[in-house]
This record gives sequence, structure tokens and C-alpha cells, in this order.
Amino acid sequence: MLLKRNFKQQSIKGVQIGNGSVAFQGIQLNVHCFVVDGVLIDTGAKSLEKQFVPFFKQQKITKVVITHFHEDHTGCAAFLQKDLQLPIYMNNKMLDYCKKKPDYPMYRKLFWGKRSPFHAEAIEETFLSSHATWDVIETPGHAIDHLAFLNRETGQLFTGDLYCQEKTKVILREESIPTIIESLKRILTYDFEDVFCCHAGYLENGRAALQRKLNFLLDLQEKVIRLYDDGMTPAQMKNTLFPKKYPITLLSSGEWDSIHIINSIIQK
Ligand SMILES: [Zn+2]
Repeated sequence: MLLKRNFKQQSIKGVQIGNGSVAFQGIQLNVHCFVVDGVLIDTGAKSLEKQFVPFFKQQKITKVVITHFHEDHTGCAAFLQKDLQLPIYMNNKMLDYCKKKPDYPMYRKLFWGKRSPFHAEAIEETFLSSHATWDVIETPGHAIDHLAFLNRETGQLFTGDLYCQEKTKVILREESIPTIIESLKRILTYDFEDVFCCHAGYLENGRAALQRKLNFLLDLQEKVIRLYDDGMTPAQMKNTLFPKKYPITLLSSGEWDSIHIINSIIQK
């Protein structure tokens, strides 16, 4: 199989960052995980396990916390649990799903591999590391169990897939833009400085970046509602607002599509 793999690691503001990427037929995807104060945030993808494992072994990890159940965040959880004997915590909403062999489309298995079952524990509203108390912040929209983690000591915020990019063009079928908007508003009520995103990595001026994303989505929501009131169909709105075709839409047979942005707004 012609999957190209790459791995980089670096340290920014005391956070150890592992970044794996996979490329296939011109589509490149990447995923980050982070270690700070003994806490590993997310576990990378199974397809990158060989790349992530040496990174994990270099770190002094005492616990693993997971932002959401998607396979690019939970792919090495089984290894961390079985081989490194680490406790894993995540939102209780998808605990049972993660105990079983996952069911997701072929193209995702190709990019991210087949995530093995693991047994996580339900995370509480806060948790402790050696030097800090952390807030666990519910931030659904991208996934129903999505969480962000804030280190109160350092003001460092780990946002999983809440951000990804400022100008959202395609989303997964089950994502909800109105719910993401509420989550962005909620996160912006917290006191934080540095932001670490599982796909974009370290965000300079993270608060401003999250605010810009919120503004972009609010503006988009308003446009969709206006066009809907004018009688436009979702397909017509897609052609007006998102005229470009994205390779991931074809590759995923429409699981990722701009139309889901529109549908999630007009259904609300
Ligand atoms: Zn995700």
C-alpha cells in the first residue's frame, strides 16, 4: 500500500509534541499528540503506531486523556494501556464504543488504520497532574463526546479537533456547526493563553484564532439562514457558498462535505 508516513517531534513552551502524517494519492492528513506534566493528550493513529511509540517511550507519562473517540486520537490507546500500563480517561459517552472493534469506513481505515479496543475510564470535571489542576471542558459539535483540557497552572489549552482550521469548508456528516459555535463561545469564557490543536498544532495567539473561527462560523450561519429564508435549496447554497470541490469529499463518498455545514445549520 502506498501510504507515506512521516513523524516529527518538537517542544514548544514546555509541551512535548509528536506529529505524525500520512499521505495517499495526493491527500495528506496529520495528527498531533502532546505531553505536558506527565499527561499525554490523545494517542495518535494506529497507522502511525511505529512512529508514535518511540515518542511515547521517551516521555514520562503517568496518565492519558483523550479529547474524543475518533480513530486518529485513540489509535495507540490500546498499546498505551497494555504495554505501558497507563490509565486512560475520556468522556463516558463513548467508553463502550471504544471497548469494541470500531466500525468506520474503509478510507479511514486506510489513512488511520484499525483502532484496537481499549478500556478507558470516565473522566471527571477536573483532574490533577504533578504540578497542575486541569479543567475538562465539554466542547461537542465535531464529535458528541468532544472535550478540551485546560492546564490552570500554565494557561495552556488543548482543544482536540475544536479548531482544526479557521475557515471550515467541509465537515463530517454527524458534525453540527451550531453546536461547535456554542462550544467556541464556552471555551472563550475560560482564562487561557497558549492553544494546542490536534491537527494545526501550536496556535500562535490561540485565543484570537479561536475568536476568529467563532466569528467566521457566526457569519456563515447568518448567510445560510438568509439564503434559506430566500428559498434556496441546500444544494444551491453549497454552490454559492462553497463552489470548490474538495478531494476528501470524493474520497470519503461524501462523509466529508460542505453540504453538511449547511444541513446542520438549517436543521437547528
Ligand atoms: Zn476528530
